[in-house]
Amino acid sequence: MVDELVRAARALVGGEERRDFAFVVRGGVITDAGDFNLVRERAGDLPARAFPADRLIVPGFINGHSHAYQILLRGWADDLTFAAWRSDALYAVVPKLTPDDIYWIFVAAFSEMLAAGITTVTEFFYLNGAGNAHAHAALRAAEDTGIRIVFARTWMDADYAPPQFRESIDLARERTLELRERFSWANVCVAPHSLHAASHEMIRAAAAFAREHDCMMHVHVAEAPYEGEETLAEHGATPIALLDRLDALDERTIAIHAIYITDEEKRLLAERGARVIHNPMTNQYLGDGICDVVGLQALGVTMGLGTDADVKPSLIDEMRAASLLQKVRRIDGSALGARAAFDLGTAQGARALGIAAGDLTPGNAADYLVLDAAAIDPWSPDVQSLVYRGEDRWVQAAFVGGARVYTGERSSLARQAANTLKEIANRVIP
Ligand SMILES: [Zn+2]
Repeated sequence: MVDELVRAARALVGGEERRDFAFVVRGGVITDAGDFNLVRERAGDLPARAFPADRLIVPGFINGHSHAYQILLRGWADDLTFAAWRSDALYAVVPKLTPDDIYWIFVAAFSEMLAAGITTVTEFFYLNGAGNAHAHAALRAAEDTGIRIVFARTWMDADYAPPQFRESIDLARERTLELRERFSWANVCVAPHSLHAASHEMIRAAAAFAREHDCMMHVHVAEAPYEGEETLAEHGATPIALLDRLDALDERTIAIHAIYITDEEKRLLAERGARVIHNPMTNQYLGDGICDVVGLQALGVTMGLGTDADVKPSLIDEMRAASLLQKVRRIDGSALGARAAFDLGTAQGARALGIAAGDLTPGNAADYLVLDAAAIDPWSPDVQSLVYRGEDRWVQAAFVGGARVYTGERSSLARQAANTLKEIANRVIP
């Protein structure tokens, strides 16, 4: 790990354009930042790394929700109803995957993400059941590619879940603890799958685990209308209200999707300090619907963005879609602007996950990108260009914890993963 002074002729800091900006990296964390001349004086004789004005330095993008193995479903499983996609594609493939397959699939997916500027991935991982071997493989893939990972270790025990994913509460707890100990560098937290795939006892236990071990609790909620209809009929409560009744709605709760919720539930999310991850590309791809991002932001709910089904893991796409969908939903071109979308994909997204990252300011991880600024019109603000016209190939390098983990071309490990993936696909796709 190198301690150094990073000088950027051009940078985005807190969404603002800065010129001749600098930050100090010590132990993988930004310890000082500001105008170059001031920071240089305080930095002493640290070695310097400088980027010229044709490069735009921005914080690494924060992916708040992903199921990386779903890159195997691309193409052949497109254009299905949600039920057919789940039963004929997803559940047809996953029982066949070995830990070795998982390792290579995740190396491929994480390498793609780094090349698209995603420096933090949140993997909502439910390929469990037989033990932690699959999870170990996924976490080794994160370690070997260098991406920062939040590992939302999923718990499932209800009939809705395929038998190979189901565990008892005790086993799920024990195995999550094993991961937290063995992979202490990763942010391993807990994720009861959803109100339909985890029992109420399991959701209560997961929320208690989060409080006891000081971690976050991720949960899919209200992605489709049927969930609310079911919880209302069976338990007399809509999904967010039901989580609250289960003592599973507080500042540790990260609600994934939150599309079909009432105004009352939006207020409840805000009051409890719960966070929401919005997945606008997947919500379009699967025909889910549109989350009321503007309404939730107005209530002060902290939110982030996720690539979920990973059809094309790109946070630039997610930021653009987040903005465009709100404009359509509200029939209002000013509903959610580029600056707000960029915040969701960086600083606010990191806060939603409870991690210190997402901006080039002291206290945050030194996770940043070098973008090619040549395609930005001289008359256009950088953040507008990035959100509405940006492309993943603008990413020329990605740094995580101050170390360069993407150099502008595929690593030999990523090439090996791409080749291995062809063999895996031949074997497991029906
Ligand atoms: Zn999901």
